[in-house]
Amino acid sequence: MMSKATIASPSRELMGSPVFDELGMERDPDNLYLQIIDSVLHAAEILELPHHVQIILAQPKNEIMVHFPVKMDDGHHALFKGYRVQHNNALGPYKGGLRFHHDVHLDDVKALSALMTMKCSLVDVPYGGAKGGIKCDPRSLSRDELMRVTRRFVAAIAQQIGPDYDIPAPDVGTNAQVMAWFADTYMSVTEKQDAIAVVTGKPIEFGGSLGREKATGQGVIDVLQEMLPEVGMEIKGHTCSLIGYGNVGSWAGKLWHERGGKVVAVMDHTGAVANPQGLDAIALDDYVREKGGVAGFEKTPHGATKITEDEFYSTKVDVFIPAALEQMITADKARMINCKIVAEAANAPTTPEGERILMEKGVEILPAILCSAGGVTVSYFEWVQNKTHSYWDLEKVDEELNRHMVKAAHKVQQARKRFGVDLRTAAYIAALDRLGKAYKCRGIFP
Ligand code: GLU
Repeated sequence: MMSKATIASPSRELMGSPVFDELGMERDPDNLYLQIIDSVLHAAEILELPHHVQIILAQPKNEIMVHFPVKMDDGHHALFKGYRVQHNNALGPYKGGLRFHHDVHLDDVKALSALMTMKCSLVDVPYGGAKGGIKCDPRSLSRDELMRVTRRFVAAIAQQIGPDYDIPAPDVGTNAQVMAWFADTYMSVTEKQDAIAVVTGKPIEFGGSLGREKATGQGVIDVLQEMLPEVGMEIKGHTCSLIGYGNVGSWAGKLWHERGGKVVAVMDHTGAVANPQGLDAIALDDYVREKGGVAGFEKTPHGATKITEDEFYSTKVDVFIPAALEQMITADKARMINCKIVAEAANAPTTPEGERILMEKGVEILPAILCSAGGVTVSYFEWVQNKTHSYWDLEKVDEELNRHMVKAAHKVQQARKRFGVDLRTAAYIAALDRLGKAYKCRGIFP
């Protein structure tokens, strides 16, 4: 039974690990990277992970930062800043998405790269963790500008990535088309074998995998389907609300609906809509694709009302699914949230303070490294298909994805039972266990 979590993380001393002093790392509670490393080190202490593995994981292996000029449509040149942080590659090539967003900073990319190391280890794919990004607003770029920004970035980092070394993928603000330009540019500037496998999340027509687009949303639903029965719940007949109705949110919403649940409220950067009888998740997806957001959906004949942000957060639901950016569940929002389970479909959506409040309210948090791991899992399948020059049907992709997600969910449940910790700490423990075993065999060079 998923009883009220042992409040292991939030009640202990923040950033109390001696590794912080040893590596001269600040103790800044508002820094996402330090927050994540703090939780990882806390789990490492419980697992008694050797000191050398703890210090290795506390800092990324490589932090790459580039500046590059791009000719804009009006003829002037603009300078862009790009990042690729390679956190760890003990289990295999670096792997992780590429984010195009106006608010991308080095510490965020570092944080997300560390989460990828944990995520890949937990879901048993043979990868390490990385993350990248370009500081830009993709919505304000024309299609041609977006293509030139992408191609020029690939040229800038081509020597530091590769199909057996570091494999980017889509993330916030990027999509299959951006991955196609990425692969095409890389294939033009290198002569590596299997160069097409340098990125995943490509279009089906150009080396992509069936099922990759919906994979992150589907992974969230697979985890919920596996874990809800522990609290005497199932998807059928139960309610959820979603923040974000982009790729991840809309697929999670549609699949929740398809499996008999009701999506009663959705909020994104344009507004929020609700329907206590259940929104039409498919019509809402079509609407968002056309209009760019949920605002105005209440004016369509699909039965929805416009609600305020506060009304959205206070809507009573069984499962609350954050599927947008990091750190959205602050203390204020956590106080308003009225749910039994939070399923973190986005990376790091809950602040430590928000987490403390939710836990005090008895809310179970299914952590991001578990819930949001479906995308990278199907990325792995895409990479295998590229490397073997053979392609899988959708049934095989769905079945294999489910197998990885269910196995990871069981590992988290076992770690929770064994160590009596909250689910986030349990997920880190399960991920670190695999990493620790790899380091034990490999040793440290020289
Ligand atoms: N950006 C996604 C994530 O955060 C996918 C990464 C990948 O497929 O490599 O998990």
